[in-house]
Amino acid sequence: MNILLSRWLLALGLALIVSLAASRARLLSPGGAAAAVVVGTMVFGGAGLPGAGLLLAFFISSSLLTRVVNPRAVEAADKFSKGGRRDAAQVLANGGLAALLAGVILPAAGELSPVVWAAFAGALAAANADTWATEIGVRFGRRPVLITTLAPATPGTSGAVTGAGLAASFGGAGLIAVLSLLGAPGARAPLLLAVLTAAAGSLGALVDSLLGATLQARYRCLACGKVTEQHPQHRCGGLTTLTGGWAVVSNEVVNFDCTAVGAALAGALAVWLA
Ligand SMILES: [Zn+2]
Repeated sequence: MNILLSRWLLALGLALIVSLAASRARLLSPGGAAAAVVVGTMVFGGAGLPGAGLLLAFFISSSLLTRVVNPRAVEAADKFSKGGRRDAAQVLANGGLAALLAGVILPAAGELSPVVWAAFAGALAAANADTWATEIGVRFGRRPVLITTLAPATPGTSGAVTGAGLAASFGGAGLIAVLSLLGAPGARAPLLLAVLTAAAGSLGALVDSLLGATLQARYRCLACGKVTEQHPQHRCGGLTTLTGGWAVVSNEVVNFDCTAVGAALAGALAVWLA
């Protein structure tokens, strides 16, 4: 059989196995699992084992943090997510750009492939930074403040940051950045590349907070009065109404923009370092 075809079939098989396992562990909704098969196939198929390693490091570390660090943070989670299981929109918001870069652009990049690889790593570094910052910040952060005004905020509010969350953000981006060296053999300054990729991912997560505090749609439940990102219906069953931000700027749009900033910065740094 054709080597390229067998590589993509292997990628599909691996993506199916991982997505099924994640679905059984209730980490993904059925739609989320379907989206994860697409993202996983594109990343495994286009970027090979190093790409698969980065994607799995993001998926496993962020899922574990959600499960282990915040098992009972349902009340807080209620404010900024749709509960424990990631749905298709959330999977594509966090992994869609990485899938596009790895599965479509990288195979066609030729001499530019180190730059595309760096952008792919930057996108996943930003997604991981954002997830780690959210989980660690909500659990261990003291006195969250809004990133724009530095006014005290309730834990879990979009745009609220804590020292612990910012440190976790750099840790989450750093894990991906260090692993990304596996896909950059012969890089001129590997340590510098890793540190800068981690910084690019952290900056992406900061942009996420900035958008969360400004443009992101904020809703209030008409039944229970809680602030939420859910629309049109709150998990309690009540309808929600827009109280701030723009309706089109959902949490998913903000998460996608976070990965775009990480990818653009990391790609630009790779050009500069080359
Ligand atoms: Zn409600």
